[in-house]
Amino acid sequence: MSTENSFDLIIVGGGMVGAAMACAMGERGFNVALVEGRQPDLDWPKPDYDNRVSAITRASQYVFENLNAWEYMVERRVCPYRKMVVWDSTGSGHIQFDSAEIAEPDLGHIIENSVIQAGLWQRLKQLPSVHCFSPATPQQLQITQQQACLTLDDGQVLAGALIVGADGGRSWVRQQMGFESKGWSYQQDALVATITHERDHQACCWQRFAADGPLAFLPLDEKTCSIVWSTSPEHAKQLLALDDAEFLKALQLSFGDDLGRMLTVGERAAFPLRLAHTIQYSSLRLALIGDAAHSIHPLAGQGVNLGLGDMSALVDALLAAKTRGEDIGDRAVLRRYERARKADNILMLGAMDGFKRLFSNDQPVLRFARNLGLNLTDKISPVKQLFMQQALGSASNRGSLAKPPHL
Ligand SMILES: Cc1cc2nc3c(=O)[nH]c(=O)nc-3n(C[C@H](O)[C@H](O)[C@H](O)COP(=O)(O)OP(=O)(O)OC[C@H]3O[C@@H](n4cnc5c(N)ncnc54)[C@H](O)[C@@H]3O)c2cc1C
Repeated sequence: MSTENSFDLIIVGGGMVGAAMACAMGERGFNVALVEGRQPDLDWPKPDYDNRVSAITRASQYVFENLNAWEYMVERRVCPYRKMVVWDSTGSGHIQFDSAEIAEPDLGHIIENSVIQAGLWQRLKQLPSVHCFSPATPQQLQITQQQACLTLDDGQVLAGALIVGADGGRSWVRQQMGFESKGWSYQQDALVATITHERDHQACCWQRFAADGPLAFLPLDEKTCSIVWSTSPEHAKQLLALDDAEFLKALQLSFGDDLGRMLTVGERAAFPLRLAHTIQYSSLRLALIGDAAHSIHPLAGQGVNLGLGDMSALVDALLAAKTRGEDIGDRAVLRRYERARKADNILMLGAMDGFKRLFSNDQPVLRFARNLGLNLTDKISPVKQLFMQQALGSASNRGSLAKPPHL
């Protein structure tokens, strides 16, 4: 094998989490190979919004700032949100969060996934020690005591001390390792689309809960929101088949009038929702991060934020190993990463699963309890402040990169 195909680490998957990992390690002088199946689109400007967006916590914003990629996202477009309103359509339960109550400028940002990925790729193209193989897909993975080898579809062989699987929920890397992923289908699909509406969104995320699932309006431009409508697969199929006018009528009926009349809808798509958690995140010369390790219901917008927490914790573990003169592919090094992240991830997966079940249950006693709970929480400032700190991502351990850049 030629020496130019030898790296410190090889990352499979250059989505939001894998590209962030490549930036972090490239910035610290590691020799990185990044293998991505689809060539990311860096062209800008784009008149239409991507129908896949993410609610990005403050902790994740710090990650992007620390990687010097945030400015490239802001240059494209990001939308800060200051408020969040949640209500139960089956009762009077209602809660409102406002960043002013915790003296913060915002509670987070809504950003198109393609903008996040493009911002990171723009940054990593400036890093001479990051080598991008894209579009490329791996064909074979071989791990020995000495190294990990990845054969690509064009026959190139890449070798490194460590393989990082950041290749999403259907991770090829995880499958090659035979790691078991536990979980279940939610029997729900998330329908996504960009909507324009009559009234300003007031920098607010709107989420209404109903028995068939939550419907969220996430702010983009003044009178434009991205929706995530979680509902039964049959209902999602019907909604996809409607013409635009019929779809907007159904959406208005379900959401109500807070944003005035629904005016236009962009391209619609639906994704099946699952809870999944891999029993093992690591083994000799291998680590999984992001959706390759866990998938979560999108109702609280935590998936990519958790993935960036994994990335940041893995970077910490690898840097500490390098300082101590250890092999970065060593099992003990990678176990430290796994231990640092598993508890946080399991806690969040469990909490979101509990929320989803609580709000999709139509039993009168539960319905009464959750409406009462929402209204009570709305009136108790310290509890609300705690929720908001959690939403900012500042209450959990997400590694050094998730800390403010000036600290
Ligand atoms: C409807 C919906 C709404 C969501 N909203 C939010 C939100 O508001 N906030 C939030 O934090 N999370 C949200 N999530 C979750 C979030 O989208 C995921 O957690 C996130 O995309 C995971 O990022 P990732 O980089 O780990 O994986 P992915 O985004 O799946 O990226 C994987 C990358 O690997 C590449 N790849 C895959 N296989 C291979 C291969 N064999 N070879 C080479 N490359 C490969 C892919 O092309 C892709 O670029 C939402 C999810 C859904 C479904």
